[in-house]
Amino acid sequence: MEKKNFLCTGCQKKYPLDRTFPRCDDCFEPLEVEITQGEISKKRNYISNNYTLNQNILDRYASFYPLSRINHKLSLREGFTPLIPTNQLSSILDLDNLYLKNETVNPTWSFKDRGTFVCLQHAKNLGYTRIGTVSSGNMAVSVAAYGARANMQTFILVSSDMPLEKIQPILIYNPVLIKVKGDYGQLYYESLKIGQETGIYFLNSDVPFRVEGSKSISFEICEQLGYDVPEYVVIPTSSGGNSRGIIKGFLEFYQQGLINRLPRIICVQLEGCAPIYQAWKNKDEKISPVQEPKAIDHAIANPYPPSGNELLRKLRMYDGMVTTVSDNEALESQVLLAKEGIFAQPAAAVSIAAIKKLRANGIIDKKNKCVAIITGSGLKYSGILNKHSFGSETCTLKTMKEKIVSILEK
Ligand SMILES: [Zn+2]
Repeated sequence: MEKKNFLCTGCQKKYPLDRTFPRCDDCFEPLEVEITQGEISKKRNYISNNYTLNQNILDRYASFYPLSRINHKLSLREGFTPLIPTNQLSSILDLDNLYLKNETVNPTWSFKDRGTFVCLQHAKNLGYTRIGTVSSGNMAVSVAAYGARANMQTFILVSSDMPLEKIQPILIYNPVLIKVKGDYGQLYYESLKIGQETGIYFLNSDVPFRVEGSKSISFEICEQLGYDVPEYVVIPTSSGGNSRGIIKGFLEFYQQGLINRLPRIICVQLEGCAPIYQAWKNKDEKISPVQEPKAIDHAIANPYPPSGNELLRKLRMYDGMVTTVSDNEALESQVLLAKEGIFAQPAAAVSIAAIKKLRANGIIDKKNKCVAIITGSGLKYSGILNKHSFGSETCTLKTMKEKIVSILEK
């Protein structure tokens, strides 16, 4: 494979791939691995020669990843998630071709596992024995799980007001969990700095090899649709790292000639914390921090997304767009997804809420093929279920038949 570098997404300055600090020294924008063109040139060969049930994403797409070594034992079989055609949702949303990329079935129930697995390879190859992350939920669980599997000391930094309900699923993997008092947005940058000084590789939300992990979502969508690229791919967006990876994945397949066009990317934020949308709407080049974020699900409420500026640049370059939905629309969509048998967290359901809105105002056409990325499971956020009003029935053993018959007669 041709030697690759990191490229600054802001000023294009090059850095060697053995660097761990993920931002540019000059302009401080995020670094990204240069576009990688895999060695497989014909999709026919690509499908038939490489497929086995025991693969992981770094087996299947190895030539698209500039890693000097790959330790397959670290895999928990992340990725290869189902792309599910919808039944009821298609008619509810009046859309002929709606697919759900169900990331809730990853090993720790969110898309984060793809990036954690790929990042861990980079950390191991550089000789790191300690990893860490800053997270309010999904990424903390993912890094703690993979850190345990890799037998690496793992530091999880969380906000001091994080509820026990979210902390316990992290602690089961026995990481060093530190609750930090202070500005959560600043924690991202401080952790990177302290990581450099103390020999901890921080796998934060948009570090280059985490973004590389997200590429595999696009690779899989292309394969699952027989290389018939959807018109729209709709992504819940917080830090911007996952959206960047998905855009890059489609670009790499496009530049390799495996697909003949790019999908239109739609990033979705919650109204109460939408810094990328605000900058998009105001035609600003840079995002401004949200001072008082108010959003129902912290997984999609980063008040100062570290990849915000770069995502704006990419969306403008490739005809993408950003939209918002309300907390209530996210909750309503959580129920809509359940109609298809999928239990997503509200942060993941926003992609459905956005499609509903864009379909209603005519931006998405009935015949357009749409893929909604369902980023994470609802299981880890059971507290949010109190916001819904679900019904149930009660009876005794004696009155059970009577009860069931009365329901059947309704
Ligand atoms: Zn730069």
